[in-house]
Amino acid sequence: ALLLEARSLVHTYPGRDTPALDGLSLGVERGERLALLGPNGAGKTTLLLHLNGSLRPQDGEIRLAGEPQGYDRAALRRWRSRVQLVLQEPDDQLFAASVSEDVAFGPLNQGLDEREAEERVARVLEEFSLSALADQPPHLLSHGQRKRVAMAGAVAMRPDILILDEPTAGLDASGQMEMLAALERLNDDGTTLVFSTHDVDLAHAWADRVALFAQGRILALGPAQSVLRDP
Ligand code: ADP
Ligand code: ADP
Repeated sequence: ALLLEARSLVHTYPGRDTPALDGLSLGVERGERLALLGPNGAGKTTLLLHLNGSLRPQDGEIRLAGEPQGYDRAALRRWRSRVQLVLQEPDDQLFAASVSEDVAFGPLNQGLDEREAEERVARVLEEFSLSALADQPPHLLSHGQRKRVAMAGAVAMRPDILILDEPTAGLDASGQMEMLAALERLNDDGTTLVFSTHDVDLAHAWADRVALFAQGRILALGPAQSVLRDP
């Protein structure tokens, strides 16, 4: 069965004539690395925001492990404990006074006791080479460091599925390598990855499957070699 599924999603933003998602369907398989590839404005971010319940479809539905998802507080809470989204711009998701408080926010909110949360935070900070920055305010860090803090906060929730909007955008070459290495480790540990990118080479080198987006639809879906052959 599919782990996460979008069925016939429709979403038009207020004041727009054309839909950002135009009856889009997509299934995510357990354990895979799925890249959403397409030009700016194709609807990738809008889909990602639907996949963790941040946006509610105007038509269609999201299923998680076969179950249609609800949008009340309790349902969203359960949903977020399994599906975490990392936004493209870290500043859109970093709010706490320090790196460690930011990373602890999700686990504490999830009901983990303070000691357990502390241990988990310490481990994740270590994993993302952020231990030395634990007490720093996020806004004083570099863009690449802030991106890692945002990732660490999502990973601290131990989601089944990690969804990332342009995870390598705005990083220098070594930052990109570090990011991919971190994602590789998570995927090796069983985390399913869904990420948007406009980097064809990245999709080719790194995804199990690629969904090719244009104008709120998926034009092709499959292994990179088959989707990206002969443009
Ligand atoms: P992508 O992630 O592929 O660049 P988006 O999902 O961000 O695409 O955008 C899809 C379409 O929706 C674009 O036409 C974009 O301009 C529009 N859009 C995105 N966010 C908003 C918003 N908050 N308000 C109005 N239109 C939006
Ligand atoms: P262990 O301490 O034996 O690794 P855990 O239950 O703590 O057992 O971890 C189970 C799995 O989760 C391990 O494969 C580990 O690599 C991975 N893991 C550890 N910490 C985190 C974290 N903060 N977020 C996501 N996965 C993690």
